Amino acid sequence: MRKRLIPFAYATNVFEVSDDFFKKLGIKTILFDLDNTLDPYTVSLPSQRSQDFVKRMKDLGITTIVTSNNRGGRVNTYCKALGIECVCLMAKPFSFKIKRLLKERGFELDKTILIGDQIMTDVKAGNGAHIKVMLTEPLDTEHEPFTTIINRIFDRPVRKKLMKKGYLRSWRELL
Ligand SMILES: [Mg+2]
Repeated sequence: MRKRLIPFAYATNVFEVSDDFFKKLGIKTILFDLDNTLDPYTVSLPSQRSQDFVKRMKDLGITTIVTSNNRGGRVNTYCKALGIECVCLMAKPFSFKIKRLLKERGFELDKTILIGDQIMTDVKAGNGAHIKVMLTEPLDTEHEPFTTIINRIFDRPVRKKLMKKGYLRSWRELL
């Protein structure tokens, strides 16, 4: 199994992850994928649970930033409503933009976690930038754009293999 495809931790969705997980690892920054990680593609405003999660992280002193491959009105509107910064056109699976962001902002590699639902973009990009990565399940696979449908064709068998070989370590095991 290629190392770059293996996430640091796994969760069904980010909302189930407890404060203790972030505290124990000393996480200071979360780089969030938006689509199908925080909310589905079809949603333009943050759900209550996304708002609650961001508030919970803020109370822990954790900075949350949306790092999306997308851009434009919807992403900006969403992030504004959520009250968090958004860095768009991240070019995941490449990691140069994430590396640049980490350097510019002085985010420490071992205290930063990227959370996303796709192995082919999020896991690859986060590992390439030498930060922790949490892989989640996509929130809604019925309304995905073409590029994501293609990525899923590669994602599904890899995910299955990772699961079977015990490489998807639940966040609960890290407590
Ligand atoms: Mg996504």
